Amino acid sequence: MNFGVVKKETVVLNPRKNMARRTIPIEIRKDPLTGRTSRICHFMKLQWEKPDFEKLIEGTEAMCPFCPDKVMTLTPCFPEEILPEGRLIIDDMVLFPNIAPYDGLGAVATMGDRHYIPMTEIDPERIAGAFRLAMAFFRNIQNTGHPESVYHMINWNYMPPSGSSLIHPHLQVFSSSSAPNLMREELEAAKTYMESYGTNYWDDLIQHEMSFEERYLGTVGRTAWFIPYAPMGVAGDVLAIVEGVRSTLELTADDLADLAEGLTRVMTGYDKMGIYSFNMNFFTGRAEDEFTRFHLLFSPRTFFNQALGTPDNGALRNLYNETVCMAFPEAIKDMLKSDF
Ligand SMILES: [Zn+2]
Repeated sequence: MNFGVVKKETVVLNPRKNMARRTIPIEIRKDPLTGRTSRICHFMKLQWEKPDFEKLIEGTEAMCPFCPDKVMTLTPCFPEEILPEGRLIIDDMVLFPNIAPYDGLGAVATMGDRHYIPMTEIDPERIAGAFRLAMAFFRNIQNTGHPESVYHMINWNYMPPSGSSLIHPHLQVFSSSSAPNLMREELEAAKTYMESYGTNYWDDLIQHEMSFEERYLGTVGRTAWFIPYAPMGVAGDVLAIVEGVRSTLELTADDLADLAEGLTRVMTGYDKMGIYSFNMNFFTGRAEDEFTRFHLLFSPRTFFNQALGTPDNGALRNLYNETVCMAFPEAIKDMLKSDF
């Protein structure tokens, strides 16, 4: 397992210190699986101002299609060959087709009646409940023998900095035969790894991170949590790998509860940095892909400038797909560890 790094430094004359020489370190790290590079640089304090939430939320409820007074009239239904009941409902959560689809079989699941839930008030049972609703959809699709029932994915954009246009907590739920870029690259690389070394990359990674401890947060059930060596988020990411599981449909109710529990612990830690928004994606193999392990990636999101709405990713990320993390992942682990 190769944890590659190119260490560089840049020298500037500091205007705040009478043009004294200042040396700034930069690390270009290589993801040990895919070789994707990630820049560890800038080194600013990971602390952001939160917005005035009352002002931000005010009035958004009236137009919200996911609120309980509108969800059953404003959201679409699946045709009967996909889902005879049209929508799936468990308790106060509703799953329906994504009106803005990006694949053949896409759904949106509301995470309950409550329009705005502060990040630290999202309890594990709510997350696990929404995951169970998505799983019910996936199983339904699987039982119909649908050709798109290959990769079963959940994405979560929480609050506007993450790309969400709605305040109301909801999940993007989709089944597809087309693996998204990074997931496909990981699957191909993990297959090559197993062919070369005869072991499962993700099992080896868990073992390495657990023994090394520098980026390791802990385990919940059979889920192992740590900060990736080459993160994508500006404040790092958190990776959770489920031991022995290849694909989403193999996740048990206990796994879903453990993933939900770990996510809330991570949210508590990031909240202290002023983070109130994140992306979370499922990464899954096909049922028969013995070279992979199911994992999810949690990535905190923020505005670089709250007032201007400046996103935390610019040209470097958008057009080169080169990422910037503003602290060492090992230091981010220290910031999150006490809440985990
Ligand atoms: Zn709402």
